[in-house]
Amino acid sequence: MNLESELERLKKELERARFELSVFYEITQAMRSTLRLEEILYVILTGITAHQGLGFNRALLFLVDFENKLIKGKMGIGPVSREEADKIWKWIREEKKELMDLLKEYHRIKERKPELFRMVEELAFPLEGSDTVLQQVFSEGLPIFIKSHQAAGLKNDVLVKKFDLEEFVIVPLWAQDKIIGAILVDNFVTKRPITPSDIKILNMFSSQAALAIENSKLYEDTLWRSHVDSLTGLWNHGYFQFKLKEEFDKNLQRDTPLSLLMIDIDNFKDYNDKFGHMEGDKVLVRVAEIIREESRKTDYPCRYGGEEFSVILSGISKKDATSIAERIRQRIEKEEFLRRITVSIGVVSFPQDASDRQTLIRMADNYLYQAKAAGKDRVSTGK
Ligand code: GH3
Ligand code: MG
Ligand code: MG
Repeated sequence: MNLESELERLKKELERARFELSVFYEITQAMRSTLRLEEILYVILTGITAHQGLGFNRALLFLVDFENKLIKGKMGIGPVSREEADKIWKWIREEKKELMDLLKEYHRIKERKPELFRMVEELAFPLEGSDTVLQQVFSEGLPIFIKSHQAAGLKNDVLVKKFDLEEFVIVPLWAQDKIIGAILVDNFVTKRPITPSDIKILNMFSSQAALAIENSKLYEDTLWRSHVDSLTGLWNHGYFQFKLKEEFDKNLQRDTPLSLLMIDIDNFKDYNDKFGHMEGDKVLVRVAEIIREESRKTDYPCRYGGEEFSVILSGISKKDATSIAERIRQRIEKEEFLRRITVSIGVVSFPQDASDRQTLIRMADNYLYQAKAAGKDRVSTGK
Protein backbone atom coordinates (compact mmCIF):
# COMPACT_ATOMS: atom_id res chain seq x y z
CA MET A 1 0.00 0.00 0.00
CA ASN A 2 1.19 3.49 -0.81
CA LEU A 3 1.96 5.16 2.49
CA GLU A 4 1.55 8.65 1.14
CA SER A 5 -1.91 8.07 -0.27
CA GLU A 6 -2.94 6.29 2.90
CA LEU A 7 -1.81 9.31 4.91
CA GLU A 8 -3.72 11.57 2.57
CA ARG A 9 -6.85 9.49 3.05
CA LEU A 10 -6.53 9.56 6.82
CA LYS A 11 -6.01 13.27 6.77
CA LYS A 12 -9.18 13.77 4.77
CA GLU A 13 -11.09 11.52 7.12
CA LEU A 14 -9.85 13.50 10.09
CA GLU A 15 -10.85 16.75 8.47
CA ARG A 16 -14.29 15.39 7.75
CA ALA A 17 -14.68 14.20 11.35
CA ARG A 18 -13.62 17.59 12.65
CA PHE A 19 -16.07 19.31 10.36
CA GLU A 20 -18.88 17.01 11.47
CA LEU A 21 -18.06 17.63 15.09
CA SER A 22 -18.12 21.39 14.67
CA VAL A 23 -21.42 21.22 12.79
CA PHE A 24 -22.81 19.03 15.50
CA TYR A 25 -21.67 21.46 18.13
CA GLU A 26 -23.12 24.45 16.35
CA ILE A 27 -26.51 22.84 15.80
CA THR A 28 -26.71 21.59 19.37
CA GLN A 29 -25.94 25.11 20.59
CA ALA A 30 -28.65 26.51 18.33
CA MET A 31 -31.16 23.96 19.59
CA ARG A 32 -30.51 25.20 23.10
CA SER A 33 -31.40 28.75 22.13
CA THR A 34 -35.14 28.11 22.15
CA LEU A 35 -37.78 25.84 23.63
CA ARG A 36 -40.51 26.64 21.13
CA LEU A 37 -41.31 23.50 19.16
CA GLU A 38 -41.59 25.10 15.75
CA GLU A 39 -38.30 26.92 16.24
CA ILE A 40 -36.60 23.71 17.28
CA LEU A 41 -37.89 22.00 14.14
CA TYR A 42 -36.57 24.84 12.06
CA VAL A 43 -33.15 24.62 13.72
CA ILE A 44 -33.04 20.89 13.03
CA LEU A 45 -33.96 21.21 9.37
CA THR A 46 -31.68 24.17 8.79
CA GLY A 47 -28.83 22.22 10.37
CA ILE A 48 -29.48 19.34 8.01
CA THR A 49 -29.75 21.42 4.86
CA ALA A 50 -27.40 24.35 5.39
CA HIS A 51 -24.16 24.17 3.48
CA GLN A 52 -22.30 24.77 6.75
CA GLY A 53 -24.42 21.98 8.23
CA LEU A 54 -24.94 18.46 6.95
CA GLY A 55 -25.49 19.91 3.50
CA PHE A 56 -28.47 17.93 2.20
CA ASN A 57 -30.53 19.68 -0.48
CA ARG A 58 -33.88 19.06 1.17
CA ALA A 59 -35.20 17.86 4.51
CA LEU A 60 -38.78 17.02 5.46
CA LEU A 61 -39.86 16.48 9.03
CA PHE A 62 -42.80 14.41 10.25
CA LEU A 63 -44.14 14.07 13.78
CA VAL A 64 -46.52 11.57 15.30
CA ASP A 65 -49.87 12.76 16.55
CA PHE A 66 -50.36 9.97 19.10
CA GLU A 67 -53.89 11.00 19.98
CA ASN A 68 -55.17 10.66 16.42
CA LYS A 69 -52.70 7.92 15.44
CA LEU A 70 -51.35 9.93 12.53
CA ILE A 71 -47.96 10.73 11.06
CA LYS A 72 -48.19 14.41 10.21
CA GLY A 73 -46.02 16.50 7.92
CA LYS A 74 -44.69 19.38 10.00
CA MET A 75 -42.02 21.23 8.10
CA GLY A 76 -39.97 21.06 4.93
CA ILE A 77 -36.90 23.01 3.94
CA GLY A 78 -35.33 23.17 0.53
CA PRO A 79 -36.16 24.07 -3.04
CA VAL A 80 -38.87 22.55 -5.19
CA SER A 81 -36.90 23.23 -8.38
CA ARG A 82 -33.38 23.80 -9.66
CA GLU A 83 -34.18 27.50 -10.23
CA GLU A 84 -35.38 28.00 -6.70
CA ALA A 85 -32.29 26.21 -5.40
CA ASP A 86 -29.97 28.47 -7.41
CA LYS A 87 -31.76 31.52 -6.11
CA ILE A 88 -31.64 30.48 -2.44
CA TRP A 89 -28.05 29.27 -2.54
CA LYS A 90 -26.85 32.34 -4.39
CA TRP A 91 -28.48 34.50 -1.74
CA ILE A 92 -26.84 32.48 1.06
CA ARG A 93 -23.42 32.79 -0.65
CA GLU A 94 -23.68 36.47 -1.41
CA GLU A 95 -25.03 37.46 1.95
CA LYS A 96 -22.45 35.16 3.59
CA LYS A 97 -25.11 33.56 5.72
CA GLU A 98 -23.94 31.48 8.64
CA LEU A 99 -26.06 28.86 10.32
CA MET A 100 -27.06 31.21 13.13
CA ASP A 101 -28.07 33.91 10.63
CA LEU A 102 -30.28 31.47 8.79
CA LEU A 103 -31.99 30.58 12.02
CA LYS A 104 -32.87 34.20 12.58
CA GLU A 105 -34.78 34.18 9.28
CA TYR A 106 -37.44 31.93 10.78
CA HIS A 107 -40.00 34.64 11.48
CA ARG A 108 -39.92 35.58 7.78
CA ILE A 109 -40.33 32.02 6.59
CA LYS A 110 -43.19 31.51 9.00
CA GLU A 111 -45.13 34.40 7.52
CA ARG A 112 -44.68 33.46 3.90
CA LYS A 113 -44.13 29.75 3.86
CA PRO A 114 -42.14 28.48 0.87
CA GLU A 115 -43.84 25.94 -1.38
CA LEU A 116 -42.06 22.88 0.00
CA PHE A 117 -43.06 23.83 3.55
CA ARG A 118 -46.70 24.09 2.52
CA MET A 119 -46.58 20.80 0.61
CA VAL A 120 -45.26 18.98 3.67
CA GLU A 121 -47.83 20.53 6.00
CA GLU A 122 -50.65 19.07 3.94
CA LEU A 123 -49.51 15.51 4.59
CA ALA A 124 -50.94 13.03 7.08
CA PHE A 125 -50.70 9.23 7.10
CA PRO A 126 -52.24 6.65 9.40
CA LEU A 127 -49.61 5.59 11.92
CA GLU A 128 -50.55 1.96 11.58
CA GLY A 129 -50.60 1.81 7.78
CA SER A 130 -47.86 0.40 5.57
CA ASP A 131 -48.63 1.87 2.14
CA THR A 132 -45.65 4.20 2.09
CA VAL A 133 -41.94 3.93 2.76
CA LEU A 134 -42.42 6.50 5.53
CA GLN A 135 -44.91 4.29 7.35
CA GLN A 136 -42.48 1.37 7.06
CA VAL A 137 -39.86 3.36 8.94
CA PHE A 138 -42.35 3.76 11.76
CA SER A 139 -43.31 0.10 11.86
CA GLU A 140 -39.73 -1.16 11.62
CA GLY A 141 -38.03 1.57 13.63
CA LEU A 142 -34.93 1.61 11.45
CA PRO A 143 -33.53 4.11 8.96
CA ILE A 144 -34.24 3.33 5.35
CA PHE A 145 -31.92 4.14 2.44
CA ILE A 146 -33.57 4.10 -0.98
CA LYS A 147 -31.30 4.15 -4.04
CA SER A 148 -32.41 5.74 -7.31
CA HIS A 149 -33.15 2.43 -9.01
CA GLN A 150 -35.28 1.37 -6.03
CA ALA A 151 -37.17 4.68 -6.07
CA ALA A 152 -38.07 3.98 -9.68
CA GLY A 153 -39.97 0.96 -8.44
CA LEU A 154 -41.82 3.07 -5.86
CA LYS A 155 -43.57 5.35 -8.33
CA ASN A 156 -46.87 4.92 -6.49
CA ASP A 157 -45.50 5.95 -3.12
CA VAL A 158 -47.20 9.23 -2.19
CA LEU A 159 -43.96 10.87 -1.07
CA VAL A 160 -41.90 9.63 -4.03
CA LYS A 161 -44.54 11.01 -6.38
CA LYS A 162 -45.17 14.28 -4.61
CA PHE A 163 -41.53 15.23 -4.18
CA ASP A 164 -40.01 13.47 -7.22
CA LEU A 165 -37.77 11.51 -4.90
CA GLU A 166 -34.85 9.61 -6.37
CA GLU A 167 -32.14 8.67 -3.89
CA PHE A 168 -33.26 9.42 -0.33
CA VAL A 169 -32.93 8.46 3.33
CA ILE A 170 -35.55 8.43 6.08
CA VAL A 171 -34.40 8.22 9.71
CA PRO A 172 -36.78 7.66 12.61
CA LEU A 173 -36.69 10.02 15.58
CA TRP A 174 -36.38 7.83 18.65
CA ALA A 175 -37.10 9.41 22.02
CA GLN A 176 -36.50 6.85 24.75
CA ASP A 177 -38.57 3.87 23.71
CA LYS A 178 -40.87 5.35 21.11
CA ILE A 179 -40.65 6.85 17.65
CA ILE A 180 -41.94 10.41 17.76
CA GLY A 181 -41.23 11.32 14.15
CA ALA A 182 -38.98 10.94 11.15
CA ILE A 183 -36.78 13.00 8.88
CA LEU A 184 -36.47 12.48 5.16
CA VAL A 185 -33.47 13.90 3.26
CA ASP A 186 -32.35 13.92 -0.33
CA ASN A 187 -30.07 15.71 -2.78
CA PHE A 188 -32.79 16.64 -5.22
CA VAL A 189 -30.82 19.28 -7.07
CA THR A 190 -27.12 18.42 -6.89
CA LYS A 191 -27.70 14.63 -7.16
CA ARG A 192 -24.69 14.16 -4.89
CA PRO A 193 -24.74 10.49 -3.82
CA ILE A 194 -25.61 9.90 -0.19
CA THR A 195 -22.64 8.26 1.59
CA PRO A 196 -22.47 5.92 4.59
CA SER A 197 -20.80 8.77 6.46
CA ASP A 198 -23.78 11.03 5.69
CA ILE A 199 -26.11 8.43 7.11
CA LYS A 200 -23.97 7.91 10.18
CA ILE A 201 -23.99 11.59 11.10
CA LEU A 202 -27.69 11.92 10.25
CA ASN A 203 -28.40 9.10 12.69
CA MET A 204 -26.35 10.68 15.42
CA PHE A 205 -28.03 13.97 14.77
CA SER A 206 -31.52 12.51 14.83
CA SER A 207 -31.24 11.25 18.41
CA GLN A 208 -30.19 14.74 19.53
CA ALA A 209 -33.07 16.17 17.54
CA ALA A 210 -35.60 13.76 19.04
CA LEU A 211 -34.49 14.72 22.53
CA ALA A 212 -34.81 18.43 21.78
CA ILE A 213 -38.28 17.89 20.30
CA GLU A 214 -39.44 15.95 23.35
CA ASN A 215 -38.16 18.65 25.69
CA SER A 216 -39.88 21.42 23.84
CA LYS A 217 -43.14 19.48 23.63
CA LEU A 218 -43.01 19.01 27.37
CA TYR A 219 -42.34 22.69 27.83
CA GLU A 220 -45.18 23.80 25.54
CA ASP A 221 -47.54 21.37 27.18
CA THR A 222 -46.74 22.74 30.64
CA LEU A 223 -47.02 26.28 29.38
CA TRP A 224 -50.39 25.56 27.82
CA ARG A 225 -51.63 23.78 30.93
CA SER A 226 -50.73 26.75 33.09
CA HIS A 227 -52.95 28.99 30.94
CA VAL A 228 -55.99 26.79 30.76
CA ASP A 229 -58.76 26.20 33.27
CA SER A 230 -58.83 22.47 34.03
CA LEU A 231 -62.61 22.14 34.47
CA THR A 232 -63.83 23.94 31.35
CA GLY A 233 -60.77 24.01 29.08
CA LEU A 234 -61.19 27.76 28.60
CA TRP A 235 -58.33 30.21 29.17
CA ASN A 236 -57.88 30.99 32.85
CA HIS A 237 -57.90 34.31 34.66
CA GLY A 238 -54.15 34.83 34.44
CA TYR A 239 -54.15 34.30 30.72
CA PHE A 240 -57.20 36.55 30.36
CA GLN A 241 -55.27 39.44 31.93
CA PHE A 242 -52.23 38.75 29.79
CA LYS A 243 -54.18 38.52 26.54
CA LEU A 244 -56.38 41.49 27.28
CA LYS A 245 -53.29 43.65 27.64
CA GLU A 246 -51.77 42.30 24.46
CA GLU A 247 -54.96 42.63 22.40
CA PHE A 248 -55.75 46.03 23.86
CA ASP A 249 -52.35 47.40 22.84
CA LYS A 250 -52.66 45.82 19.40
CA ASN A 251 -56.05 47.38 18.68
CA LEU A 252 -55.01 50.71 20.15
CA GLN A 253 -52.11 50.82 17.75
CA ARG A 254 -54.19 49.76 14.77
CA ASP A 255 -57.03 52.08 15.67
CA THR A 256 -59.48 49.18 15.64
CA PRO A 257 -62.13 48.36 18.28
CA LEU A 258 -61.96 45.69 20.96
CA SER A 259 -64.94 44.35 22.86
CA LEU A 260 -65.31 42.43 26.05
CA LEU A 261 -68.17 40.26 27.28
CA MET A 262 -68.60 39.63 31.00
CA ILE A 263 -70.93 36.69 31.55
CA ASP A 264 -72.34 35.54 34.91
CA ILE A 265 -74.71 32.64 35.55
CA ASP A 266 -77.95 33.72 37.24
CA ASN A 267 -78.89 32.29 40.66
CA PHE A 268 -76.21 29.70 40.40
CA LYS A 269 -75.90 29.31 44.13
CA ASP A 270 -79.49 27.96 44.23
CA TYR A 271 -78.67 25.44 41.54
CA ASN A 272 -75.68 24.20 43.52
CA ASP A 273 -77.67 24.07 46.73
CA LYS A 274 -80.48 22.15 45.13
CA PHE A 275 -78.60 19.68 42.90
CA GLY A 276 -75.11 19.61 44.38
CA HIS A 277 -71.73 20.86 43.31
CA MET A 278 -71.16 18.07 40.79
CA GLU A 279 -74.27 18.98 38.84
CA GLY A 280 -73.20 22.61 39.08
CA ASP A 281 -69.88 21.71 37.51
CA LYS A 282 -71.66 20.05 34.59
CA VAL A 283 -73.48 23.32 33.93
CA LEU A 284 -70.17 25.21 33.95
CA VAL A 285 -68.68 22.77 31.44
CA ARG A 286 -71.65 23.00 29.07
CA VAL A 287 -71.94 26.79 29.33
CA ALA A 288 -68.21 27.03 28.58
CA GLU A 289 -68.72 24.84 25.50
CA ILE A 290 -71.47 27.09 24.20
CA ILE A 291 -69.35 30.19 24.77
CA ARG A 292 -66.47 28.57 22.91
CA GLU A 293 -68.72 27.51 20.03
CA GLU A 294 -69.99 31.04 19.65
CA SER A 295 -66.47 32.51 19.61
CA ARG A 296 -64.29 32.86 16.55
CA LYS A 297 -60.80 31.45 16.29
CA THR A 298 -59.34 34.87 17.07
CA ASP A 299 -61.41 35.39 20.23
CA TYR A 300 -60.33 34.45 23.74
CA PRO A 301 -63.09 32.77 25.74
CA CYS A 302 -61.98 32.67 29.38
CA ARG A 303 -63.18 31.46 32.73
CA TYR A 304 -62.89 34.69 34.64
CA GLY A 305 -63.61 33.08 38.01
CA GLY A 306 -66.16 30.72 39.67
CA GLU A 307 -69.25 30.96 37.46
CA GLU A 308 -68.15 34.04 35.57
CA PHE A 309 -66.85 33.97 32.04
CA SER A 310 -65.32 36.57 29.81
CA VAL A 311 -64.69 36.74 26.09
CA ILE A 312 -62.11 39.04 24.51
CA LEU A 313 -63.32 39.99 21.05
CA SER A 314 -60.39 41.54 19.24
CA GLY A 315 -61.25 43.95 16.42
CA ILE A 316 -64.99 43.62 17.08
CA SER A 317 -67.32 46.61 17.39
CA LYS A 318 -69.85 47.00 20.17
CA LYS A 319 -72.72 46.30 17.80
CA ASP A 320 -71.28 42.96 16.68
CA ALA A 321 -70.22 42.06 20.21
CA THR A 322 -73.78 42.71 21.39
CA SER A 323 -75.22 40.26 18.87
CA ILE A 324 -72.66 37.63 19.88
CA ALA A 325 -73.65 38.18 23.53
CA GLU A 326 -77.33 37.87 22.67
CA ARG A 327 -76.69 34.64 20.77
CA ILE A 328 -74.81 33.16 23.73
CA ARG A 329 -77.60 34.20 26.11
CA GLN A 330 -80.29 32.61 23.96
CA ARG A 331 -78.42 29.37 23.41
CA ILE A 332 -77.83 28.86 27.14
CA GLU A 333 -81.45 29.62 27.91
CA LYS A 334 -82.59 26.93 25.45
CA GLU A 335 -80.17 24.32 26.76
CA GLU A 336 -81.71 21.56 28.89
CA PHE A 337 -80.32 21.32 32.40
CA LEU A 338 -81.97 20.00 35.56
CA ARG A 339 -83.53 23.41 35.74
CA ARG A 340 -83.58 26.34 33.34
CA ILE A 341 -80.25 28.19 33.39
CA THR A 342 -79.91 31.80 32.34
CA VAL A 343 -77.02 34.24 32.19
CA SER A 344 -76.55 37.99 32.43
CA ILE A 345 -74.01 39.65 30.19
CA GLY A 346 -72.26 43.02 30.21
CA VAL A 347 -70.85 44.23 26.89
CA VAL A 348 -68.17 46.93 26.69
CA SER A 349 -66.03 48.21 23.88
CA PHE A 350 -62.89 50.16 23.36
CA PRO A 351 -62.84 53.04 22.49
CA GLN A 352 -66.59 53.62 22.95
CA ASP A 353 -66.83 52.87 26.69
CA ALA A 354 -63.29 53.26 27.94
CA SER A 355 -59.88 54.35 26.79
CA ASP A 356 -57.84 52.13 29.06
CA ARG A 357 -57.87 48.49 30.04
CA GLN A 358 -58.71 48.85 33.76
CA THR A 359 -61.70 51.08 33.04
CA LEU A 360 -62.84 48.63 30.38
CA ILE A 361 -62.99 45.79 32.91
CA ARG A 362 -64.68 48.00 35.50
CA MET A 363 -67.33 49.10 33.00
CA ALA A 364 -67.96 45.49 32.00
CA ASP A 365 -68.62 44.71 35.66
CA ASN A 366 -70.92 47.74 35.91
CA TYR A 367 -72.97 46.72 32.90
CA LEU A 368 -73.18 43.17 34.17
CA TYR A 369 -74.48 44.52 37.45
CA GLN A 370 -77.04 46.60 35.53
CA ALA A 371 -78.27 43.48 33.76
CA LYS A 372 -78.65 41.74 37.12
CA ALA A 373 -80.44 44.72 38.66
CA ALA A 374 -82.84 44.95 35.74
CA GLY A 375 -84.03 41.38 36.36
CA LYS A 376 -81.21 39.08 35.04
CA ASP A 377 -81.37 36.91 31.88
CA ARG A 378 -80.38 39.83 29.68
CA VAL A 379 -77.56 41.63 27.88
CA SER A 380 -76.63 45.11 29.07
CA THR A 381 -74.68 47.55 26.95
CA GLY A 382 -74.92 50.33 29.52
CA LYS A 383 -77.55 52.33 27.74
P1 GH3 B 1 -76.54 36.00 40.67
O1 GH3 B 1 -77.69 35.78 39.79
O2 GH3 B 1 -76.62 37.26 41.41
O3 GH3 B 1 -75.25 35.87 39.95
O4 GH3 B 1 -76.61 34.84 41.75
P2 GH3 B 1 -75.55 33.72 42.03
O5 GH3 B 1 -76.13 32.77 43.00
O6 GH3 B 1 -75.08 33.16 40.78
O7 GH3 B 1 -74.44 34.61 42.65
P3 GH3 B 1 -73.03 34.49 43.22
O8 GH3 B 1 -72.08 35.04 42.23
O9 GH3 B 1 -73.03 35.18 44.56
O10 GH3 B 1 -72.76 32.98 43.48
C1 GH3 B 1 -71.89 32.26 42.70
C2 GH3 B 1 -72.05 30.83 43.08
O11 GH3 B 1 -71.42 30.05 42.08
C3 GH3 B 1 -71.37 30.46 44.34
C4 GH3 B 1 -71.00 29.03 44.15
O12 GH3 B 1 -71.97 28.19 44.72
C5 GH3 B 1 -71.05 28.83 42.65
N1 GH3 B 1 -69.76 28.45 42.10
C6 GH3 B 1 -68.66 29.20 41.93
N2 GH3 B 1 -67.65 28.47 41.41
C7 GH3 B 1 -68.15 27.21 41.24
C8 GH3 B 1 -67.59 25.99 40.74
O13 GH3 B 1 -66.43 25.89 40.33
N3 GH3 B 1 -68.40 24.90 40.70
C9 GH3 B 1 -69.69 24.96 41.15
N4 GH3 B 1 -70.44 23.86 41.08
N5 GH3 B 1 -70.22 26.09 41.63
C10 GH3 B 1 -69.47 27.19 41.67
MG1 MG C 1 -70.81 35.54 40.20
MG1 MG D 1 -74.03 34.34 39.38
